[in-house]
Formats: sequence, structure tokens, C-alpha cells
Amino acid sequence: MQAVAAFSSSLLLPPPFKTLIPSDPFFNCNPKTLTPIFRPLLKHNNSRRNAIQAASSSSKKAKSSKNNRRRPSRRSAIKKSFSQEQLIFNAPISDDPNVAIIGGGMSGLLCALGLEKRGVRSTIFDSGMHGLGGRMGTRIIDPQPLIFDHAAQFFTVSDSRFGKLVDGWIERGLVREWCGPIGELEAGGYFKPMASSSPRYIGVSGMRPLADSILSQTGMVNVVRPCWISALDPFNGMWHLSENGKPHGQFDAIVISHNGKCANRLLASSGLPLIAKQMKRLELSSIWALLAAFEDPLPIPSSMSGTPFEGAFIKGVDSVSWMANNTKKLFPSQSKGPQCWTFFSTAAYAERNKVPQEYIPNIRAEKVKAGMLEGVEMALGLSPGSLQRPFYTRVQLWGAALPTNTPGVPCIFDPLGRAGICGDWLLGSSLEASALSGMALADHIADYLQSGVAPPDEFALGLHNEFQPIDGHDIGQFPGLEYKEQVAEVQTCIT
Ligand SMILES: Cc1cc2nc3c(=O)[nH]c(=O)nc-3n(C[C@H](O)[C@H](O)[C@H](O)COP(=O)(O)OP(=O)(O)OC[C@H]3O[C@@H](n4cnc5c(N)ncnc54)[C@H](O)[C@@H]3O)c2cc1C
Repeated sequence: MQAVAAFSSSLLLPPPFKTLIPSDPFFNCNPKTLTPIFRPLLKHNNSRRNAIQAASSSSKKAKSSKNNRRRPSRRSAIKKSFSQEQLIFNAPISDDPNVAIIGGGMSGLLCALGLEKRGVRSTIFDSGMHGLGGRMGTRIIDPQPLIFDHAAQFFTVSDSRFGKLVDGWIERGLVREWCGPIGELEAGGYFKPMASSSPRYIGVSGMRPLADSILSQTGMVNVVRPCWISALDPFNGMWHLSENGKPHGQFDAIVISHNGKCANRLLASSGLPLIAKQMKRLELSSIWALLAAFEDPLPIPSSMSGTPFEGAFIKGVDSVSWMANNTKKLFPSQSKGPQCWTFFSTAAYAERNKVPQEYIPNIRAEKVKAGMLEGVEMALGLSPGSLQRPFYTRVQLWGAALPTNTPGVPCIFDPLGRAGICGDWLLGSSLEASALSGMALADHIADYLQSGVAPPDEFALGLHNEFQPIDGHDIGQFPGLEYKEQVAEVQTCIT
């Protein structure tokens, strides 16, 4: 594979940049921390050397390491992302390139899968303690066990590329249709069914097991978990990743497949100002999840066929936007035993009751639980206090739940910094959007790595796109899902 050669992109080079030479005595590297110490070059014109890059942020890092008694606050670190200089890699790309993917949600997983299809190795780093998947979370409470999907509930398919993938998952027994009735529940217990031009899909054993299995047939993807990447350092033409000072290897290119505060912090002094700026423009909602298990079935309004609904978008209730019977969804033939329900708040309610998601005070958790259970009563049209008491509850705040704006590009790529972004927010707010974004970035990076001498600016993507608001439900978008007006209610369902 050949080096990406000269570069001079008016599109991509904001401020004047500095270039670094690895043989320079000032270019020291502590092999333990892999922290580069860069010295600015006097001449600009050494871009063809097989070395690296410029990053004033890195020279700032060097200064701050001398004087590390005063560490910058997170706020000031994020502010710096607007003033950092563009990093430029012009070392040749390895013959057998390796890409680091930071985030093992749907987008990161499909990016790895797509890279493998194009013959490119990758390593996924994911901070998940219980498994891969990010916002494809499934909580299993032993010993019963009680099982709840506590973020993504189901998905639809509108794009044939995603559809092909889903067909493969169905064949492997990872995914099946969810045939139980779903619809809109108006406060007071008024249920209106919804139909879908595309089937509704769920992970057969929940969303997390689906995420954990997506890569089971791959041979070129390495997964490192749980691992929270805290620093990205360019050195000797490669990206060096580390977790609180512990090195995690070097890579030809990086993919940021997560978002929110973590990503803003990671990018704040990365030498990727355009990428950092786009990430910083993303706005995210918050959502409270209440998981509740009940001994007996809830008094659920029936659909037209007389079957109680299994999932409903709630209207006219301030504290609840969605409720789903996860027991009926995941185990449709089970007629006895407790029923596990997942309730989600509205984004507005979560905003008003927001706390740091890592430290939820008990008093707030109790208030949210009571507020949401009251909302469930209202939605079902029950008299106050008459809802059966759940024997198990757990509340959780998704502080960075769903994107509310999007640049509307499949992925973002900075060829000078050899870094890309994928995630739901680039195209919308759904599992399908995440999947398409991951697949698009994989193809884009593979094209870039295999391009030989093509000028890097040809590969710049999404670095300047304006953001537009995203429409949809509080828990995301479901392309193809519509109200059932005069449609016959029973859908053909292949199980
Ligand atoms: C409450 C809720 C309900 C939803 N319901 C639905 C639904 O029913 N249907 C639907 O289609 N979509 C739904 N969504 C949206 C859907 O879950 C997301 O669009 C999708 O899962 C996003 O995938 P992603 O790969 O873009 O990001 P994520 O799933 O967020 O993945 C990012 C990963 O990166 C990891 N990470 C972060 N920082 C680091 C770091 N520094 N180092 C290593 N790892 C890191 C995180 O742990 C996470 O695993 C819902 C979302 C929420 C919050």
C-alpha cells in the first residue's frame, strides 16, 4: 500500500500548520506513555518526509506536562478544540493497515464488519462492562431471570443494504420479527394500533446478545473490552491509543464511534479541529428508563383483535413516552410468571429531572420512579394509586440518549488526520441509521487506505456540513412505522 502523498487542501487546512520530524532531538517519546513531545519546524515544506504531522495541541501538551500541577478543566479542554491546529499524517500507510474503532455500539460493530469485508484489520475498544452494544442494552436480573431491553426496543428496515444484513441475522437466529401489537396510547387508555410497511425486528434474546454476536463470524476484528480509551496520540505516522496511561497499541487510522461528552473530551486536543467541531455541534436528549417487573399482567387496553398491546408510544402524558412488555416481546409463548416492562420518560421530563448519570441521588431516583409510575397509570386510564406495585424496579438515566440534530451525511472523515466518525446521529436516530453510518465509514476508509496516491482532500467528508433538526419519537425513528387507519390489523409475521 502506498503513502498518501502531498496534500494541500484549502478545504481542510484552517490555520497555518507545523510539521514535525521524528529524528529531531526534541521529538522525544516516552515509550511507556507514548506521549509525543513535538517541536514546531521552521520550514513548512517537509510534508513529504516519511514522518508525521503537526499539532499545536501536542506542543501544548508538552508544555502542560512540564507544568502539570494545573491541569486544564474539561470546559477549557473542549474550548481548545476550536483553536487546535490540524494534524497531518503523511507517512506511508502500512501494507497491512489496522484501524482502531473506539466504541462497540451498532455503528462501531458494523464499521469493523465492513472493514473486514474489504480486507482491513480493526480493533474495537469498548467501555461496556456487561458486553458490547452501547445503547443496545439488555439487563438480565438473576435468579429468575428478569430480562429487559433497557434502550433500543425494536427496529425497522428501510434500506436494502441494512435489510440484507438483517436477513443474515435472521438466518443465524439472532433476530426475529416482533409480531405483538404496538401502537399509540393516548392518556386515559385510548389505544390506536400502528402498522409497518417493514416488519419490526428484535434481538431474539434481547438487543445486547445481538450486539455480542454480530462479530462472531469475523476473523480480522479484535475486541478489547471493557476499555475506556482516554487519549489519542499521534506519533511516528501512527495513532497511539491509551487508557489512563496504559498503552493499547498503534493504528493507521482511527474511528470515533461514540458521541457526547466522552467524545468531545477525547477530541479536544487531538489535532482534529474539524472533526472536533462537528462533534461539538451535536445535541443530545436525555431519557429516563424505568424497568419494572410485575407479578400479574397489567390491565392493558386491547388492540382491534382483542390482544393486549405489547408496546406503545404514549401521548398526552408528561413523564412517559414509551412502554413495552419485554416478557411478551421476548417470550411470546410464555403465559405464566412475572412480566417485565420497560418504560421510557419523555425527553422533556428527563431534561427537567437531569442529574449526573453516574451519581443518581436516591431521592431523585425515587421521585422519577413515582412520577413515571403515575404517568403509566394516567396512560392506562387507571385511578391514581391503583396500579399494581412492581416487585422489582430500577431507574437509569440515559444522559446522552438520542441525537436531536444531524449533519445528514453517512459518515465524517478527515483524511489528513486519518480519522473518521460514525454513529446514529450522522443520519438520524435509530439502529438503522447507526448501521448505515458504520457501513459507509468502513467503505470510505477502505477506499482511502487502498487509494494509493490519491490526494487526501478527495476523501474529506462531512467536515463542514450544516446540522438540521431530527424528527421522530422521543426514543428515535422507525422508518416505515405508521398509524393503522383502515389496514387490516393482523400482520403476516414470520417467526
Ligand atoms: C432510551 C433509548 C431507546 C432507544 N430505542 C430505540 C429503538 O427502539 N429503536 C432504534 O432503532 N433505536 C433506538 N434507540 C437509539 C439506538 O439505541 C441508537 O441509535 C444506537 O444504538 C446508537 O448506536 P451507536 O453505535 O451510534 O452508539 P452507541 O450505541 O452509543 O455506542 C457507543 C459505544 O462507545 C462506547 N464508548 C464511549 N466512549 C468510549 C471510550 N472513550 N472508549 C471506549 N468505548 C467508548 C460506549 O460504551 C458504547 O458502547 C434508543 C436509544 C435510547 C437511549
